[in-house]
Amino acid sequence: MGRKKIIAGNWKMNKTPEESRQLAMQLVAEIGGFNACDIVVCPTYTGLEAVRNAIAGATNIHLGAQNLHQEKNGAFTGEISASMLVGTGCTYVIIGHSERRQYFGENDALVNQKTKSALAAGLKPIVCVGETLDVRESGGTEKLVREQVRQGLAGLTEAQLASTVLAYEPVWAIGTGKVATPAQAQEVHLWIRSELAACFGEAVATGFRIQYGGSVKSDNAAELLNQPDIDGALVGGASLDAAGFAAIIKKGCA
Ligand code: PEP
Repeated sequence: MGRKKIIAGNWKMNKTPEESRQLAMQLVAEIGGFNACDIVVCPTYTGLEAVRNAIAGATNIHLGAQNLHQEKNGAFTGEISASMLVGTGCTYVIIGHSERRQYFGENDALVNQKTKSALAAGLKPIVCVGETLDVRESGGTEKLVREQVRQGLAGLTEAQLASTVLAYEPVWAIGTGKVATPAQAQEVHLWIRSELAACFGEAVATGFRIQYGGSVKSDNAAELLNQPDIDGALVGGASLDAAGFAAIIKKGCA
């Protein structure tokens, strides 16, 4: 059986709980019942409950968070743990987004800890990898991305790997309007799949879902998601508009 595509919307630090509820309701009206792919929406922590209630009747739309803390609980003021996300209705969590790496100093070792913590609580991690423009221009993309995959997923069991998703997001394409060409994205997805095979075996690599992220819009979604190793999309800006996000989903998963 082929890999079921997965499209996630990362709302980043946008929308109050009420605005989140409204966007989620619009999304349910647009694509509730569209079962050709898995759909995940990732509002802010404070929007999670409102969105959970809004999507309760739409079994094809899943709730995700944008981050978590690696520890189970304790004196970590301002942080949120995996079990708290589960208790709020989340089934997915984004880990190691480039903005977390860039602005909050997250590295591959921390990404690995957070991934294990998410999995231990029953969450499905969406682990982000990707190179900066400097790395791409100096020819270092393959080496870096392979390293991010190897370290980020180190020590996971086969069952845990089956619940994990990777998102390849070239940093130079995030929020910039500069999208990787389908060929550029496919090339990196193939490197990632070959690294998964080297680390965990062919069966794991073949079943693994790898999203592309970076300025995905309704007019480029189909071409990107038609590439053989691109199994979905992680969408930032364009996921803040229900009609636009629905169009990405319908075109990308036609
Ligand atoms: C993202 O933040 O994961 C992302 C891909 O953003 P955008 O779609 O806005 O480039």
